Amino acid sequence: MSEHYVCFIPADPKFVPSKGSQDAAVALIQRAWLHISEITPETNEHIVFRDCGENFESIHCPSCNTELRVDQWHELMEQDYSDEGGFQLDQLPMPCCEEKLTLNDLSYKWPMGFSRFVLRAGDPGCEDSEKLLNELESAIGCQLRIIHQMY
Ligand SMILES: [Zn+2]
Repeated sequence: MSEHYVCFIPADPKFVPSKGSQDAAVALIQRAWLHISEITPETNEHIVFRDCGENFESIHCPSCNTELRVDQWHELMEQDYSDEGGFQLDQLPMPCCEEKLTLNDLSYKWPMGFSRFVLRAGDPGCEDSEKLLNELESAIGCQLRIIHQMY
């Protein structure tokens, strides 16, 4: 039996909502997804990569639309990461077109991203609700990216 999660991360990777905002966001999910028991807000000291697990399909450069090979992407990931500081999300020249972008700018299919804060919930098995997303964004005070994780 595979495990499915829905993660909400701030569009701004450094952004960490206040404790009060986090509690308000958890309450909104509890109200919208009644049967989901597991809702966990998490804050990391540094910026962490949030993957989509088995939902991974491809990575494209948003500038020239070339598909990046996984080894090219790994190289960029290594370049940007340090054990002491996590991911820096520096502007890196893309191997395809030399355009300078951060790892968080790439087009990930399915969506993935980088953040210090994540709100992870069990997958409710329904479509993402625009209304819930809007409510969460105003509770947290930042636009959010939704990541569907499957393991
Ligand atoms: Zn490119």
